[in-house]
Amino acid sequence: MPHFDYSPPPYNGPSADEILSKRKEFLSPSMFYFYEKNPLHLVHGKMQYLFDSNGRRYLDAFGGIATVSCGHCHPDVVEAIVNQTKRLQHSTILYLNNAITDFAEALASKLPGDLKVVFFTNSGTEANELAIMMARLYTGCHDIISLRNAYHGNAAATMSTTGQSVWKFNVVQSGVHHAINPDPYRGVFGSDGEKYAKDVEDLIQFGTSGRVAAFMSEAIQGVGGIVELAPGYLPAAYNAVRKAGGLCIADEVQSGFARTGSQFWGFENQGVVPDIVTMAKGIGNGIPLGAVVTTPEIAEVLCHSNYFNTFGGNPVCTSAGLAVLRVIEKENLQQNAHFVGSYLKERLMAIKNKHEIVGDVRGRGLLLGVELVTDRKLKTPAKAETLHIMNHMKDMGVLVGKGGFRGNVFRITPPLCFTKEDADFVADVMDCAMSKI
Ligand code: PMP
Repeated sequence: MPHFDYSPPPYNGPSADEILSKRKEFLSPSMFYFYEKNPLHLVHGKMQYLFDSNGRRYLDAFGGIATVSCGHCHPDVVEAIVNQTKRLQHSTILYLNNAITDFAEALASKLPGDLKVVFFTNSGTEANELAIMMARLYTGCHDIISLRNAYHGNAAATMSTTGQSVWKFNVVQSGVHHAINPDPYRGVFGSDGEKYAKDVEDLIQFGTSGRVAAFMSEAIQGVGGIVELAPGYLPAAYNAVRKAGGLCIADEVQSGFARTGSQFWGFENQGVVPDIVTMAKGIGNGIPLGAVVTTPEIAEVLCHSNYFNTFGGNPVCTSAGLAVLRVIEKENLQQNAHFVGSYLKERLMAIKNKHEIVGDVRGRGLLLGVELVTDRKLKTPAKAETLHIMNHMKDMGVLVGKGGFRGNVFRITPPLCFTKEDADFVADVMDCAMSKI
């Protein structure tokens, strides 16, 4: 493992067994809690590393589900949180506070065009719910187009726009249409983005009145298994949606905030400018913070009634957000994500050449995916093998995520401070773990 000069203080808290039994008794029994029977008991984080209660170190290549952008407990972010917590821990948007306006101004400066009015939320789900509501109010239409395989959240409208049955309960809203996913690896039209976009036109023609409220999509699907939309897709889809009077919503919860390396926002990789951008995860480095950014004209729709939430724009969270943005700039984390991500992708491609089980390597910057199959031609998902390899990797000190609708994709979304040595270690460990099965 790469050298890293830090040892956490000894842990004296309750044991993993005690926590596990309380968790089983008092927390919701969602099947998704466990990657395995005995989850890791993590007690410390320092930049790209996590430590368990026995002091064992892990290289974190998952980043708390693409959330830890500058590094665990980054000192500048911690300092901003502590300072603001000592000054004023809570204030609502009813009063003035510069922690909120400073971050809103900084955020607006990172967005193109007229995108400069910010609404703060507590999560990605809330941001997407608000974006959908704004589009419906602005256009006077109800219908939304999203993509099969998308993930947008777990409340009523966002669960409906999500395009994977495993994330849905039987409460989905009407008026949501799922377009064919422009997935270059599994999709019917390969990498031809414009052909897939024709389906958006067809959905509008055959499934709606001809007018829609919005089209919502990620630029690289995260939960769906790091699927980068086929080139040319977004410009053509945006075109079709705008012709039908709809707004284009970019869900940048995973792909935004420098993670793709080549650009600050994922949508910029396809050369489009959305009407509404939503974000969360990386913007707070793990602090609950989300935002919706739109144009002054669209933002007007909320003026006719009260739109408010108690915690949206909490000064501790927005102070963290501003510190994250400053760290990304000061430490050139976008450039680092590009450099280290490109290097790691090359190493993963070499693993694909060596191990038959790797069907596809994809993604951009530090938003990378490795899809495992038992048969390359048939693309049969290697679900059990994915879990085995992942556990071998954990035993060797590397944490990766697992995802994709079929549960057979490694999600590699580390903190953006990842180094070339870290990338080598992840690749070496993955190679070794694949050789074991
Ligand atoms: N959109 C995307 C693209 C996401 O990946 C997620 C979370 N995985 C969400 C929305 C929902 O965010 P949250 O979990 O913060 O509600």
